[in-house]
Amino acid sequence: MADAGRELVVVGAGVSGLRVALNALDRGQKVTLVEGRSEVGGLTSTQTLESPEGPVEVDRFYHVIMESDATVRALLDDLGLGGRVIFTSAPAELVSDGQQYPASSIVQMAMLPALKLADRLRIGFSGAASLALPLRLADTMTSASLLRRLAGKSAYKNFWGPILRAKLGTQADQVSATLIVSTFRRLIQARLKGAGDRFGVLPRGYAPIVSAMRARVEARGGEFRTGTAVTNVRSEGTGEATTVTVTLEDGSELTADQVVLTTPGPVTTKLVPQLTPRERAQLTSSPYLGVVCGVYLLDTPPNDSYITYLTDDVGLTGVIGMHALLGPRYTGGGYLVYLPHYCASDDPWFDEDDDVLADRLFAAMQECFPHYTGRVLARAVNKARYVVPLPLPKADPPLPFVTSVPGVVVVSTAQNRTGTLNVEGSLSMADEASAAMAGAHDPSNTNK
Ligand SMILES: Cc1cc2nc3c(=O)[nH]c(=O)nc-3n(C[C@H](O)[C@H](O)[C@H](O)COP(=O)(O)OP(=O)(O)OC[C@H]3O[C@@H](n4cnc5c(N)ncnc54)[C@H](O)[C@@H]3O)c2cc1C
Repeated sequence: MADAGRELVVVGAGVSGLRVALNALDRGQKVTLVEGRSEVGGLTSTQTLESPEGPVEVDRFYHVIMESDATVRALLDDLGLGGRVIFTSAPAELVSDGQQYPASSIVQMAMLPALKLADRLRIGFSGAASLALPLRLADTMTSASLLRRLAGKSAYKNFWGPILRAKLGTQADQVSATLIVSTFRRLIQARLKGAGDRFGVLPRGYAPIVSAMRARVEARGGEFRTGTAVTNVRSEGTGEATTVTVTLEDGSELTADQVVLTTPGPVTTKLVPQLTPRERAQLTSSPYLGVVCGVYLLDTPPNDSYITYLTDDVGLTGVIGMHALLGPRYTGGGYLVYLPHYCASDDPWFDEDDDVLADRLFAAMQECFPHYTGRVLARAVNKARYVVPLPLPKADPPLPFVTSVPGVVVVSTAQNRTGTLNVEGSLSMADEASAAMAGAHDPSNTNK
């Protein structure tokens, strides 16, 4: 193997970093993973909440596995965890002016009593017309302008607007129409491939997956440095004589033949000053979507739905009733609910106190469910400034994995151009980057 014995440092131990590390260990490389936080897992990391029945481990950010997530499911099988996923379905709901309406399918949503007949017809037409729109044309306009044009103002306000907001929060208006066209196409393709609309969940969230990946890295000789962030990455020399020096926040340095950064675009540009101005622009030109997300164990759930879309602007993007998929017997008797506020990465909420935010998010949920009288058993707030870049109309192409800086590879959310982030996509991108790295260092490869 051309890469055998080459030293690799992976910056960030989320699922992307863990996957890149395992791929490199398979190729015989020596791997060190550096993670800024004390725990591994990144956005899939978990935390402990105190329930009346004792400590309960839950995802910091809610996660479900789709039946069509072939790469995730293959990984779970490989780790011996496939049998532990619970696949189930749960309804969705839309709350408007304190009234609850079923919203599990486009047909149900289009039949909402709040919608006029003309709006229902235009919703059907706008969905079909968006599906047929060539992506090149979609990339010249925003999702909001496309759907407003096709469905009209009233159907947009009462139907498409809340759906876009549920996914994209306060920045919903800026996003390219490619997002809506590719989302519709993916949904149709999943249906054509026979994938159902059930959601898969694991008791204890992603904790068993992340621990099993970590254990496998260590069993194959990989090492972890956790709780110390990388502050600088510097490359010297070219070709086989390349050395990359990684400086850590505790002042220590690691040297390697190759470094892979899995950090978000704005972080990566700060860590690697040698990237060209064009590469820096490719990593930062699209604004990132951030999220402030409350996680609650409640003594009673607000409803029986997994997703509740909200038309009222209360500062809450939606209500994620994880309890509808993972019953209270898995969560210490409490009902697990997430209250996300999707926003720009410089939103003032990021600097506010967690208790203040937890109160505000819960009060917003109560405003949507005026008759709700449940009690909070445990709660926490998690913040992620950089979740995924929003695809803007006519944006730059993503940065190639192998950069112009010798020995420096980037594979992160920054290269996501769909605006929808999931573990399936993160693992697939990590695999593509691993293949590109192997190709770039195979002396027999004349196709560089
Ligand atoms: C609210 C929410 C809901 C989601 N729901 C789902 C879902 O239902 N299904 C699904 O499949 N996916 C879901 N996802 C997406 C999923 O979490 C991501 O696809 C995946 O976790 C991305 O992994 P990553 O390794 O690329 O990035 P990250 O997890 O962000 O990993 C990057 C790592 O780099 C570390 N780091 C940053 N800076 C430094 C530094 N200077 N030095 C060292 N380390 C550093 C970070 O601490 C982090 O661990 C959701 C995400 C969010 C936020």
